[in-house]
Amino acid sequence: MTSVHGLHHVTAISGPAQENLDFYAGVLGMRLVKKSVNQDDPGTYHLFYADATGRPGTDLTFFPWPQLAPPRPGHGTAPEVSLAVPPGALDYWFARLERYGAPVGEVSTRFGERALPFQDPHGMHLALVESESAFRGPFTPWQESTVESEHQIRGLDGARMRERELRSTTSFLESALGFRLLASENGWERWVLGDGGSGKWLDLAEAPADRRGAWGVGAIHHLAFRVKDGAEQLEVRSQVAEQASPTPVIDRFWFHSVYFKEPGGVLFELATDGPGFTADEDLEHLGEKLVLPPWLESERPEIEAKLPALSAPAPIVGAE
Ligand code: ZN
Repeated sequence: MTSVHGLHHVTAISGPAQENLDFYAGVLGMRLVKKSVNQDDPGTYHLFYADATGRPGTDLTFFPWPQLAPPRPGHGTAPEVSLAVPPGALDYWFARLERYGAPVGEVSTRFGERALPFQDPHGMHLALVESESAFRGPFTPWQESTVESEHQIRGLDGARMRERELRSTTSFLESALGFRLLASENGWERWVLGDGGSGKWLDLAEAPADRRGAWGVGAIHHLAFRVKDGAEQLEVRSQVAEQASPTPVIDRFWFHSVYFKEPGGVLFELATDGPGFTADEDLEHLGEKLVLPPWLESERPEIEAKLPALSAPAPIVGAE
């Protein structure tokens, strides 16, 4: 079988775009590497935050849909995404998040690593994880970040999922995507790819009494997994098709995508590593202008008129 190689990006639903930009670029110090629109709903931004080069696996993206209600927690959801920070960085981050008014939880140890849960301004649940493997892995610091390079977020570390019944999902993760069970702890099973390092794990909990969860502002919309290229994407797609209903390959311009729901209901994507965010902008100027895929370029004036203006990100001090 062919395995996926880890998280490619995670996409979530946010409130107003400017507040999202102020938090992810201003407070978390990530680089806005692409300012585009939702290709299925071009009146909505699609904002991409990543490391300096937008390497696959560092990318957290948002659809600002402030008109939606809050999400309904429950099974069939991904309730939290983790971002990797260097070992020893959590004291810095705890102080920084508190200073800007983000709700911060308590540091705990998860599968041997220190994790700090917090929420963004729109109620999305995240955690920062001190990750040795991310620290040793590839990373390009963002020189213009509001955060010094020694503390910067290194990329996606992993994600949590809640399921009504765990086994149908875990057998799918194993047989269609190449995950294996690493360990269990405090009601969570950790399923990993390869060595299970940063970007290569999912923590799953069974919640049989929960209602079915639903999307809303602050919810994770989908988890995307890395495939090397189009050929590998088709191999994994055919494994998925034995148990789920994948879409055809869709050209997202910066990568090619296949979507499907895993058996528990969480939306997954297979995304190719290339062509990447420099397909249509110089590395130096990523994210500075509104970029539209070629087939939407003719509608630019109408699309720009619908989108709220965005100004340069500034860290926001939350109202206490
Ligand atoms: Zn996606």
